[in-house]
Amino acid sequence: MPEETLRFEKQLVTAPYIHPDGRAVEGRIEVRTSPVTGRTSRIAFNRAKEKEAGTDRLPDPPPDAQRGDRCPFCHPQVHRMTPRLDPALFPEERLVRGESLLFPNLFPYGRYSAVSLFGRRHFVEIGTADVGSYTDCFINCARYLEILYRGDAQARYMAITQNHLPSAGGSLVHPHLQVHADRVATNFHRFLQKRCTDHHRRTGGRLFSDYLAHERADGSRVIGRTGQWHWLAAFAPEGFYEIWGILPGACSVLTLDRQAWHDLARGVLNTQRFYRSLCRNGYNLGLLCQPAGVVKPELRVVILARSNYAAWVRNDHTGYEVMLGDMTTFTAPEETARRARPFWK
Ligand SMILES: [Zn+2]
Repeated sequence: MPEETLRFEKQLVTAPYIHPDGRAVEGRIEVRTSPVTGRTSRIAFNRAKEKEAGTDRLPDPPPDAQRGDRCPFCHPQVHRMTPRLDPALFPEERLVRGESLLFPNLFPYGRYSAVSLFGRRHFVEIGTADVGSYTDCFINCARYLEILYRGDAQARYMAITQNHLPSAGGSLVHPHLQVHADRVATNFHRFLQKRCTDHHRRTGGRLFSDYLAHERADGSRVIGRTGQWHWLAAFAPEGFYEIWGILPGACSVLTLDRQAWHDLARGVLNTQRFYRSLCRNGYNLGLLCQPAGVVKPELRVVILARSNYAAWVRNDHTGYEVMLGDMTTFTAPEETARRARPFWK
């Protein structure tokens, strides 16, 4: 393993001040550099003591949870209120897999933008979804990407994302994934491609395989496995309780079998149950894929908790994140891993 080329850097910054009770104290902040992105993020340990509004218990379901009658993703109106796929590329108007239904996003973000529903249940509390519904929903996304890639091979910047509840950017509570493919790379696609290519040129290795090898040898951020997926707390998190699932050696969502999607779904649900135990109800998920190119990034799903969806909860991105670009979380990733492990048993 080319240890010297993947640097897991931490530096401690201390902040001396006089506490209101008269004691001289030193705040501790750890600045970590991500071996994957080269970006820094911060862990402000003292802020863990700050009372975070709305996390003393799991918030009540949102008001929309009872309003399936007004939801465009609920039956029977879903067939009337959602768009249909482009017949030039797709043999069906909407893709069906088990209970999962996939159709174009009415508000597209790029050339190909679709929504994949988990099923008919209008509201599903975090951590309570059925693993089969998640598996079918992922497979529906993969089939959509496969069909359009066959018809438009330039649309090679692909992603599957999820915004669970409005605090994470979701506009409808009805559980769904977004699936994207575009001819134009996003920042993260472009950035990841460059880092993987540079790493391969320097070492001959694969970035996420080498990252995983380091983490397995270290052990302090390892959470567990589901099949071939390895789950870790991110070394330099850019979100609260950030967890990665890495599938070493696999570079394309177009070639995964049902078992791999099922194992991914299990890890996602374990993560959700962990977040639920922290009284968190909002999160984002992202799985990026670039099936073309000489060096293709391996598959890595990123999951992070967002501010709770509840009244009067503050946003988790302050002026520090938005204006300075360093995410500041409050919990050491090693502590995140320790607390998450029981959910993988
Ligand atoms: Zn609904």
